[in-house]
Amino acid sequence: MARRKKIYEGKAKTLYEGPEPGTIVQYFKDDATAFNAEKHDVIEGKGVLNNILSEFFMLGLAQIGVPTHFLKRLNMREQLVRSCEIIPLEVIVRNYAAGSISKRLGIDEGTQLPRPIVEYCYKDDSLGDPLVTEEHIAAFGWASQQDMDDILSLALRVNDFLSGVFLAVGIRLVDFKIEIGRVYEGDFQRLVIADEISPDSCRLWDIKTGQKLDKDVFRRDLGSLTDAYSEVARRLGVMPNNPPAPGKPTLVN
Ligand code: 5GP
Repeated sequence: MARRKKIYEGKAKTLYEGPEPGTIVQYFKDDATAFNAEKHDVIEGKGVLNNILSEFFMLGLAQIGVPTHFLKRLNMREQLVRSCEIIPLEVIVRNYAAGSISKRLGIDEGTQLPRPIVEYCYKDDSLGDPLVTEEHIAAFGWASQQDMDDILSLALRVNDFLSGVFLAVGIRLVDFKIEIGRVYEGDFQRLVIADEISPDSCRLWDIKTGQKLDKDVFRRDLGSLTDAYSEVARRLGVMPNNPPAPGKPTLVN
């Protein structure tokens, strides 16, 4: 039995070389971090919930023709994804003011924005993922103008899809962050939604009560993160029957 090769260990996920060239195994950890990892905890079951929720959203996006890196879920904590070159941007879409935009512009949290606002942050933990403009992105060559047109269109399509899915189960999609990857097919490149879509990277509020069902529960010490994410999974009908205790990554091959 061969030990598989670790490619990258992030705050919430570990990536391993996949069984076929061009594939990667994404392992969802139970670690929760906030404020650029100044706050850290291990939340039992979070990885299982995010794995299942991210699968649910990625499959839904594929069904409406939005390309993603997702190939299949392997087990409760791992999914097989296409290897891609991650564009070093966090693409944030906001429908209601909350978090950093509220602080930056002095807008009360919960205020509906006149239209969805898309923001870009440069992915660099040591800098705290600073907000950047399309000028920076073009000047530093992080993405071309064509890429930026495609990224904006993908981000808005993801927003429409997720907003509708959440609205149907009584949840308001306040904002979210996605990452975009490039995959190469012969001489062509295609942009796909990569990383994960889960309550770690969205703000989700119950429409009636305003209760937070996302990572702000951890950031702001508002109660049990597992309970919040389980509620999202339960409403979407993807609650795992017997969430397993956290385990070590399995060995394959
Ligand atoms: P804000 O800019 O208000 O802190 O975040 C906006 C949205 O993007 C929130 O839904 C937040 O969870 C998500 N987000 C921003 N940065 C990150 C990040 O580094 N990791 C994750 N998982 N989500 C992020």
